Amino acid sequence: MIEVKNVTKIFKTKNGELTAVDHVNLSIQKGEIFGIIGYSGAGKSTLIRLLNGLEKPTSGSVIVNGLEISSIKGKELRLARQKISMIFQHFNLLWSRTVAENIAFPLEIAGVPKEEREKRVHELIELVGLSGRADAYPSQLSGGQKQRVGIARALANNPEVLLCDEATSALDPETTDSILRLLSDINQRLGLTIVLITHEMHVIRKICHRVAVMEAGRVVEQGDVLEVFQNPQAEITKNFVMQVS
Ligand code: ATP
Ligand code: MG
Repeated sequence: MIEVKNVTKIFKTKNGELTAVDHVNLSIQKGEIFGIIGYSGAGKSTLIRLLNGLEKPTSGSVIVNGLEISSIKGKELRLARQKISMIFQHFNLLWSRTVAENIAFPLEIAGVPKEEREKRVHELIELVGLSGRADAYPSQLSGGQKQRVGIARALANNPEVLLCDEATSALDPETTDSILRLLSDINQRLGLTIVLITHEMHVIRKICHRVAVMEAGRVVEQGDVLEVFQNPQAEITKNFVMQVS
């Protein structure tokens, strides 16, 4: 479903060039929760932005559902992106809009008629457990509730892939667990493919099926989560595994 083929991303900087993603190969299956772990600066966010076409690779290709996302642009890319949505560490909500209006936003952009929009927003509010809060503003919500709005909004257009960039990093441990349970539930109920970036191994252990470990732009290890935990190969993976045992 998602094929990352020999992808390299080089940024031009004041001091020359910086290789953020270095010859990465990944194959992510439909319906799985795929984790990407690495320390700060490892290239995780750059890699996830390559998956939805927000960044273009310097070389290599990214194919999502048979479509080469790395080589399309304009309207075609915008349409493809409706099926690849994203949630963020700081939620990126619209502060002057209510919960319901935030969730309705991508439906408005997609031109969904008002009546259908309202029905869909209602379903999504139920799905993420925010019944009764439709008219609240983001500033009146807890961090966990804000991320629930982010998730509902991301699901509005029935995406096939949900990209999560440190989606629980701003939350306390209990709230993190409840958001991870929600993601896991959505994965099972909707068959949604989830790609989740984190620097915390317990997040990987809690919900991911497979994991890739990134260091300095490269994937240094990947495999089934249980196997990686039982038998980590790379030094950095051993460090991550030690965090949680
Ligand atoms: P973190 O855990 O801190 O979010 P990360 O693993 O997500 O880190 P990236 O944000 O992908 O890492 O950054 C990887 C490297 O690429 C870093 O050295 C970063 O400074 C650099 N980088 C990212 N985006 C750009 C850009 N637009 N221009 C120049 N350099 C960039
Ligand atoms: Mg990042």
